[in-house]
Amino acid sequence: MTVLIAGGGIGGLTLALSLHQVGIPARVFESVPELRPLGVGINVLPHAVRELTELDLADRLDAEGVRTRELAYFSKRGQPIWSEPRGIEAGYKWPQFSIHRGMLQQILLETAIERLGRDNVLTSHHLSAWAETGDGIRADFIDKATGRPAGTFEGALLIAADGIHSTVRDKLYPDEGPPIWNGRILWRGITLAGAFLTGRTMIMAGHETLKFVCYPISRAPDANGKYRINWIAERHMPPTYQWRREDYNRTAKLEEFLPWFENWTFDWLDVPGLIRNCPHAYEYPLVDRDPIPQWSFGRVTLLGDAAHPMYPIGSNGASQAILDARVLSREILAHGTTQAALAAYEAERRPATSELVMLNRRNGPEQVMQIVEERAPDGFAVVTDVLSQQELEEVAANYKRVAGFQVDALNAKPPIVPRGGAAR
Ligand SMILES: Cc1cc2nc3c(=O)[nH]c(=O)nc-3n(C[C@H](O)[C@H](O)[C@H](O)COP(=O)(O)OP(=O)(O)OC[C@H]3O[C@@H](n4cnc5c(N)ncnc54)[C@H](O)[C@@H]3O)c2cc1C
Repeated sequence: MTVLIAGGGIGGLTLALSLHQVGIPARVFESVPELRPLGVGINVLPHAVRELTELDLADRLDAEGVRTRELAYFSKRGQPIWSEPRGIEAGYKWPQFSIHRGMLQQILLETAIERLGRDNVLTSHHLSAWAETGDGIRADFIDKATGRPAGTFEGALLIAADGIHSTVRDKLYPDEGPPIWNGRILWRGITLAGAFLTGRTMIMAGHETLKFVCYPISRAPDANGKYRINWIAERHMPPTYQWRREDYNRTAKLEEFLPWFENWTFDWLDVPGLIRNCPHAYEYPLVDRDPIPQWSFGRVTLLGDAAHPMYPIGSNGASQAILDARVLSREILAHGTTQAALAAYEAERRPATSELVMLNRRNGPEQVMQIVEERAPDGFAVVTDVLSQQELEEVAANYKRVAGFQVDALNAKPPIVPRGGAAR
């Protein structure tokens, strides 16, 4: 029987493709009438790229994304703190990609339509309710634009991949309330600008209360020699700040952040220039939710941001949703479309992602920037005067362990979904 998937984001579409790969019927129900390439840049880490490669998407990712070569941390003065190779350059068998989120979603969407058929990827279908039947589940959908019923569908399981404002999570945890804001706002944009550092470097500069991240998301320069540079400026706001509910498409107000970055002109990057030359910037409050004690209820489970919304620190939002989808597919292949499959999926993914949510609250690998700011706010001659090489390496290694992307371990692991595996 069909697996019903609520949500056509990165997690829901990857799940649909993964189930199709192993011969299990799936149908995606997406709330919006048309999936447009929304969002700005994101990173997909090698462990998740590996899974997309298993889905035969590597060439398409390579055509659209940038193979991130290096991650480098800097102080607010642009002084280097730590850098490490990423992706292939770090020894992984798979690259790390910096890519426009909307482009990644389009690749998944087009492939899902090609492979599952258009009838199995339905838009304007917003999940509104569900009920267990004797041996399956019945889900009701509405067209959110009109409020009218859009149909009732039966399946074996219902997977809620419906994002940070998940309808299913809201019904399972009615007292949870809105996502938790941590006092910081992100402003995000894409600016056409010259290449910097290696041309494939992702940089982070600043510290816990004021930070700037950027990386290129286009491979080739345009006619003027410019690349699409994705950037995120982040500022800790005063307690009186009236934050606006998270919405990926809310327009930014430059005066709320540009002045704080005005003197961040480094000899290798012009931060205020990047901000000023951006045609359209967006604001987003840094929110997450507390880990919950249970994801699966009867024939329903949560996946991706619906299950574990986390700060977009350490490039894990999309990557973890992809891993969820692959583990769930493996378990459905092993146990059939049963509650046992959901239990096995949850047993692996809930502890792993809960730990990551908490680690991201402590700033993940970016702790090194805060330590430098606290110990040497006026700058330094060499970074190892401030922080030992061992401290630097430990922070980076611990994050990779929790996020599941240690080089040797990942390279040696078999693929999550067994090759050639297909449902009987
Ligand atoms: C428009 C948009 C822009 C984003 N931009 C960025 C970005 O720039 N940078 C970044 O780091 N992350 C961004 N994200 C978040 C990022 O995509 C996720 O953190 C990550 O990919 C996990 O994916 P997900 O599939 O769990 O959730 P999402 O990618 O959020 O997908 C959830 C999907 O479910 C749909 N949906 C919601 N409710 C229902 C319902 N009741 N029934 C059916 N469908 C429903 C939503 O329309 C959405 O398409 C964005 C998400 C969205 C929706």
